Amino acid sequence: MVQAQWNRVRGRLRDEYGEAAFKSWLNPLTLAEVRDGQVRMGVPTRFLRDWVVTHYGDRIRSLWSTEDSSINGVDIVVLPGVSKRAPISVPVAKAPAVAPMVAHPEPSNVNEEIGAPLDPRYTFDNFVVGKPNEFAYAAARRVAESDLVSFNPLFLYGGVGLGKTHLMHAVAWHIRERNPQRSVIYLSAEKFMYRFVRALRFQDTMAFKEQFRSVDVLMIDDVQFIGGKDSTQEEFFHTFNSLVDQGRQIIISADKSPSDLQGMEERLRSRLGCGLVADIHATTYELRLGILGAKAEQLGVEVPRKVAEFLAHKITSNVRELEGALNRVVAHAQLVGRDISLETTQEVLHDLLRANDRRITIEEIQKKVAEHFNIRLADMHSARRARQVARPRQVAMYLAKQLTSRSLPEIGRKFGGRDHTTVMHAVKKIDELRNADSSFAEDIELLRRMLES
Ligand code: ADP
Ligand code: MG
Repeated sequence: MVQAQWNRVRGRLRDEYGEAAFKSWLNPLTLAEVRDGQVRMGVPTRFLRDWVVTHYGDRIRSLWSTEDSSINGVDIVVLPGVSKRAPISVPVAKAPAVAPMVAHPEPSNVNEEIGAPLDPRYTFDNFVVGKPNEFAYAAARRVAESDLVSFNPLFLYGGVGLGKTHLMHAVAWHIRERNPQRSVIYLSAEKFMYRFVRALRFQDTMAFKEQFRSVDVLMIDDVQFIGGKDSTQEEFFHTFNSLVDQGRQIIISADKSPSDLQGMEERLRSRLGCGLVADIHATTYELRLGILGAKAEQLGVEVPRKVAEFLAHKITSNVRELEGALNRVVAHAQLVGRDISLETTQEVLHDLLRANDRRITIEEIQKKVAEHFNIRLADMHSARRARQVARPRQVAMYLAKQLTSRSLPEIGRKFGGRDHTTVMHAVKKIDELRNADSSFAEDIELLRRMLES
């Protein structure tokens, strides 16, 4: 009976938070016991526990008490080894911080010859899912899990360092693990071109074509590279068509959407866009914090919450840089034999922090937000309290808090000398609205992206 209750709670969580978030964070939860009105649940790692408690704790508690009104508390504890497939419970020994690129241990695998080796760290389990990437993640997962071709091609795009390559490798690992007979080839568009040009030179294009045309899943990374390279595009187009015609899966990544790719022939562009196009958005603060937690855990180090928050706030460009920053801080602490602190972090990263220092000013934010909501810039400072100006003003305060390193009093001053509690209230209000209203949340996201670009 308890198990049935737990199953219902799980079902509700899955419905409410979506498949991707569920898989990453909630699926690893296991029910340990229910006793004296107290539910005990286990997760495999401490990081996961903290994450689940902060993000889902309240909801889990209320779902449980709906199931059984005698339940008055929920305890989430770390039970190592409860779930092998937890997203971030990678044993430290198996996932060194700077693992070399190693080939898949199948020496005679022909795929390794045409394709590129896969990075063992780039798995689904190591991919932290959040709002900006949940769609791309779900799409990749779907392709990896289905034997039938559901959408062709899967086209992933997004800025540099946001996880495109990681997701592609994850698909490849997953398919290889589940179905070793399927031939999966991953390579960069650059390498594709290089091989093609070499085949031309050695008048060996037949063999080249044959190799590619007999794969089950072909992944080409950074396809923007063949923009303007006409003969490579031509060959790629034919390879692409023949694979699609045979019902083989193709996965492509690029830094832009198909319609924005430069120097691509129109027919190729339209073929690239005719499957499923999924973009990875710029990271959010939340996701950066999640990634830091996961990486710290992989490294087996304790990173104080303050330091993680600081990094998530400051290093906003992309995940690669965020990872690099964390690695540097950790390496430094280990070398000098000291704990990681905010001071040492700032010291170690001063160059990086300067480069990442926000060029975004409060004035820019006010201007953009005023334009967006069609109010006068002066109303950012005015005392008017009508909803149609007060709300945009709150949005601007919220964005100022998110996107600049200004303190609450400083922000207040820039908004016509308002008090810091007003700013605090605005931040809270906007957060509430974002959670309650997804179109409002999208609006904010759009503004943020415009400001950051
Ligand atoms: P891209 O191919 O989009 O330029 P990568 O896939 O190479 O980006 O990602 C850059 C680095 O950031 C990699 O080390 C990758 O593992 C890491 N990374 C990116 N997104 C995530 C994520 N959501 N969770 C964990 N690691 C991530
Ligand atoms: Mg890449």
